[in-house]
Amino acid sequence: MDANADEYEHDVPDVMYVACNIPGPGIDLDEFESEYSVGCSCTARCDSDRCSCTRATPNYIDGLIVDKEKPSGPIMECNSRCTCDSGCGNRVIQNGPLNCLVVREVGGKGLGLFTSKSIRKSRFICEYAGEVIGLREARRRVEANKNSTNYVLVVTEHVGDRALVTCIDPKQFGNIGRYANHSCEPNANLVPIRVEGSVPRLCLFASRDIGIGEEITFNYAGGVNSVHNPSVTRCLCGSNNCSGYLPHNSI
Ligand SMILES: [Zn+2]
Ligand SMILES: [Zn+2]
Ligand SMILES: [Zn+2]
Repeated sequence: MDANADEYEHDVPDVMYVACNIPGPGIDLDEFESEYSVGCSCTARCDSDRCSCTRATPNYIDGLIVDKEKPSGPIMECNSRCTCDSGCGNRVIQNGPLNCLVVREVGGKGLGLFTSKSIRKSRFICEYAGEVIGLREARRRVEANKNSTNYVLVVTEHVGDRALVTCIDPKQFGNIGRYANHSCEPNANLVPIRVEGSVPRLCLFASRDIGIGEEITFNYAGGVNSVHNPSVTRCLCGSNNCSGYLPHNSI
């Protein structure tokens, strides 16, 4: 799969690099590790109406994510049980992050994630991967991080009348995505995508064309129907419509 495609590492002491999510406290291990038992039976490309993975609406066109809510529920990529080949257009995030990402100091806000090449709108940048933790553990960590940097991201997906909550903390175990800062005027969106199993991977996609040397940011509260209130942490994004404080997921 993709783990080999990620060649990044951390310079920060005591942070372990994980290319994809790992199970943490409060997570049912069997559920975390359970993989889909079926895939689609397409022969080459998964662009037909009969593909059970794309469910008749493509998730990507030429490698770029299709910019609309999927009416039929969460985005699923083709998995190892699918009969399509590795060049299938419904395999994007599983091929790993862009290789042009750079971590460096940003004035006043610690480290940030930058790109050394331009990135086209709708392109997959990288995952926000870390420890997947239970909601109670997420609450505990957010509270414990009150006076330091909080990395816990809580994403709620509404599927029919169910709310699926995923909590990811890349503070100690994380990938390159942990350096992406919040902005009130971001250039990336966070999209939950499923590949091998039901635990979503939180994926950053460019929400506009991004130029060489730009910082990659996303809205910590953005996108996926997250309920949020401002926290007490000042936002340093510097954009014109900055709300002044970092969003705070109500969890
Ligand atoms: Zn496929
Ligand atoms: Zn298919
Ligand atoms: Zn498939």
